[in-house]
Amino acid sequence: LLDALVDQGALAIERVLLVEDMDRVKRTVESERLRSALLTSISHDLKTPLASVLGAASTMRDLAGALSDTEKRDLLATVIDESERLNRFIANLLDMTKLESGAIVPNTALHDLGEIVGSALRRASKILNRHKVELVLAADLPMLELDAVLFEQVLFNLLDNAAKYSPPETTISIRGRRDDGHVVLEIADEGAGIPPNELESVFDKFYRVQKGDHVGPGTGLGLAISRGFVEAMRGTISAANRSERSGAVLTIRLPVPAESHALDTAA
Ligand code: ADP
Repeated sequence: LLDALVDQGALAIERVLLVEDMDRVKRTVESERLRSALLTSISHDLKTPLASVLGAASTMRDLAGALSDTEKRDLLATVIDESERLNRFIANLLDMTKLESGAIVPNTALHDLGEIVGSALRRASKILNRHKVELVLAADLPMLELDAVLFEQVLFNLLDNAAKYSPPETTISIRGRRDDGHVVLEIADEGAGIPPNELESVFDKFYRVQKGDHVGPGTGLGLAISRGFVEAMRGTISAANRSERSGAVLTIRLPVPAESHALDTAA
């Protein structure tokens, strides 16, 4: 009986091992599939703007004499816009790689949130010029422990998304308030919002919401990078949809540092 039990046990263990092996094989196949899908997506994101640059530049060279000034300007605008897009994508890829290898060490100091929001708004002014922007920061916001460069990049990414995914002439609002040991900053737009079951996946790298048979114009890196940067500054970032009007709300929560508490008490 004992032998039989031992045999059965061994068989069970073998089965478990077999199932584990199969799981491992499946996982490897899955990550290989993912890796090749990512490479395809990266190659596509690099090739598309490059093809536009090459097309516009070749047309300028071949037809230079026959082109009007406006046509030349339009072609040059394509070269510049698409080169900027390539530049942004490569910068995003580099940021992502740095984040994943732990090479991003925030250089934090006490900062006034309003100042960083102001410089992000200035940097995004071209992108936002077809929207109305509403900024409401509570008067009692404390100084926050931030890396100004990283935080401005996060805000820029969120403003860029808000502008990209909502119709022109609608309002993008930025609201900051204090909430129990934290400062909460919300960036809200009046676009279609994010499908409720994808509110978390949008923070995965290369994730883009599928709309009909196509995905949006972005690279799927902005929110992954933003989450990495915010978490490096000990904050959190989450996505939701507005209940009253349509549109997405991206919420950043940052801890109020002890120094600011102390300053508040002294005041
Ligand atoms: P990208 O915008 O470059 O594609 P992100 O990581 O910034 O990459 O965003 C991931 C996806 O989340 C976007 O492709 C888009 O589908 C969705 N998304 C992000 N922000 C918004 C928003 N404000 N409204 C609607 N969808 C959004």
